[in-house]
Amino acid sequence: MKKYLAVANWKMNPGTEGEALDLFSTTLNAAKSARNVEVVVCPPFPFLSAIERRWGIHDLEMRSEAAVHLGAQDLFWERDGAYTGEVSGPMEKELGVSYVIIGHSERRRLLGETDEMVNKKLQRAFETGLHPILCIGEKERMGDDIPEIVGDQLKKATQGISGMFIESLVVAYEPVWAIGTGKPDTPESMHKAAIYIRKVLAEMHGEGSVSHARVLYGGSITSTNVASFIRETSGEVQGVLVGGASLKDDFAKIISSLEEIES
Ligand code: PEP
Repeated sequence: MKKYLAVANWKMNPGTEGEALDLFSTTLNAAKSARNVEVVVCPPFPFLSAIERRWGIHDLEMRSEAAVHLGAQDLFWERDGAYTGEVSGPMEKELGVSYVIIGHSERRRLLGETDEMVNKKLQRAFETGLHPILCIGEKERMGDDIPEIVGDQLKKATQGISGMFIESLVVAYEPVWAIGTGKPDTPESMHKAAIYIRKVLAEMHGEGSVSHARVLYGGSITSTNVASFIRETSGEVQGVLVGGASLKDDFAKIISSLEEIES
C-alpha cells in the first residue's frame, strides 16, 4: 500500500533551537502512530544538526527505521567550493536529510531563483541521493484552466534529467496565491493540475517514468481541508506540502486525517 506524504515546511521558524526540538518531538509522536502516512519535516538549516544529534536520524535512515524523515528547504548545485552562504547536498545527507524542497515560490520571488537554477539543483539532489520535492505554481489564476506557466516551470526544471530519476520525483503544485493566504485552491482544480503535471512529465520523459512520480498539493492546507484534496482527486494526489499549519498542533491532526483515508 502506498503511503500518503505529509511534508512540513517550517520556513524560517521557529525562533530557537529549543522550540524546534519541541516541535519536532510533537510531530514525531503524531507520526509514530501513523501507518499510512510518510512524514517529512523541513526545518531551517541550523536546526537540522540539533535534530540529528538528538534523534540520530542518519542512523535511523540507514536502518530504514525513521518515523519522520528530515528534509532541507534548499540546496546548492555545486558539491563544494567558494559559494558563500550556500549549503551542499552532501552536507545535508550527512545530517540525515533525505528530502529537499527545490524551487519554492518564496525563493523564486524573493531571491530571484530561476528555472535554470532550479534545474541544476534538481539534478544535484538526484545525484546526491536526495528525494527532491519540486515546487511549481502560478502567481495568478485567470479562468478555470491550469496556466501554461506551470507546465513551463516543470519542463524547464526537469530538462535533461534522466527518466530513472523522474520516477522518484515529488512535484508539489502550489499556486502562489494560495500560499499563506487562508484561501486554498479547490480539489477540483487540483485534480486538473495533477493530470496536467503527469501529462507534461509523460510527454517529456515517457509514461514509464511518470507512474511512480508523486504529486502533492500545497497552499493553506489545514486539518479541515486536507482530506478533500485526497478524496476528491481520484487518486491523482499523493499528499500535501504544509507551511503555516505545520508549526501548530494542527499538523498532528493533518497526519491523522490522512491516516483515516483508505488508500
Ligand atoms: C508553503 O509555503 O509551501 C505552504 C504551502 O504554505 P502554507 O501552508 O502556509 O500556505
